[in-house]
Amino acid sequence: MTMNDTFGRTVDYLRISITDRCNERCLYCMPEGYKGWERKEEHLTADEIIRVVRIAAELGFKKFRLTGGEPLVRADILEIVRGMKAIPGVETIGLSTNGMKLATLAGPLREAGSRTVNVSLDALDPEIYRKITGGDVAKVVAGIRAAVAAGFERVKLNCVLMRHVNESELWPLVLFAAEYRLPLRLIELMPLTSTEVLTEKNFLPCGEAMRLLGQKDELVPQPERQLGNGPARYYLLKRTGVLVGFIGALTNEHFCEQCNKMRLTSDGKIRPCLGNHGEIDLHEALRRTEDDAVLRELFREAMRLKPLEHQFRHQYQPFRPMTAIGG
Ligand code: SAM
Repeated sequence: MTMNDTFGRTVDYLRISITDRCNERCLYCMPEGYKGWERKEEHLTADEIIRVVRIAAELGFKKFRLTGGEPLVRADILEIVRGMKAIPGVETIGLSTNGMKLATLAGPLREAGSRTVNVSLDALDPEIYRKITGGDVAKVVAGIRAAVAAGFERVKLNCVLMRHVNESELWPLVLFAAEYRLPLRLIELMPLTSTEVLTEKNFLPCGEAMRLLGQKDELVPQPERQLGNGPARYYLLKRTGVLVGFIGALTNEHFCEQCNKMRLTSDGKIRPCLGNHGEIDLHEALRRTEDDAVLRELFREAMRLKPLEHQFRHQYQPFRPMTAIGG
């Protein structure tokens, strides 16, 4: 079975935020002084997540990613991954993490059945990293090493671009990616937290990141390259051999054309599009009824509501920060 939206796109990728809690405080993700935490009871339990994944897999979803907040702060993360792995139709389970707890969890997560991991790494310089995230880059680097050693099928590095904040880190990140032979993805800042964070002043478009890297190495377009399920456009850096993906949510006019995603927020709302406000409450139905047909219908309704494209370019005002939606 496959699920198609009203624009003919096949949607088979579900990103599940399993918590809105995080052990970092990224400038662009969680507004300062954020008080909108969900109550713990609002988070889906491991059994509820596994039930949703089973239903989604029956409907044709094949690829799943656990995200947050920070998914590795959940004590039952391994139970969740193991439960998902056992479901027929689940082809890949990926994780998005800040890497702070990955040094100890990489091996067990791989064994539990996770196949890929994306690690956020906005800088290598400890001070710049701390300024952006509040975290400790040494722990993240140890986590990345552990993920490589654990034999994940793919480990990708994600860096959010910010002018005057981490543009000086782009080349060191490329050299780091070269050392570990990992793809690096550069992500344009999206308006998903307080509007002061995303200003003309600190927005660094992918085109400019390309130009900066082009001063150091030759970028060879890889139009056929598709690593995983994201909307990145890939280039190979000829000298260093690093594959760099550019995620230009704001500057790439064709960003949504191939969208194959839905999101489930940590409080159990299906969100058909990251950059559009519509959400469908799965949580209430999950707790009210044992009848899976009700949940299947909510997924179908979400599919009907999936918009053609995001609204980021149209004075989009975030109602919920990224930490609540799940990146
Ligand atoms: N804690 C995990 C992590 O750090 O990767 C998973 C959740 S995080 C919300 C997922 C991704 O969203 C990260 O790569 C993060 O950099 C990105 N992200 C968060 N807020 C963003 C924003 N406003 N614009 C662009 N990317 C953002």
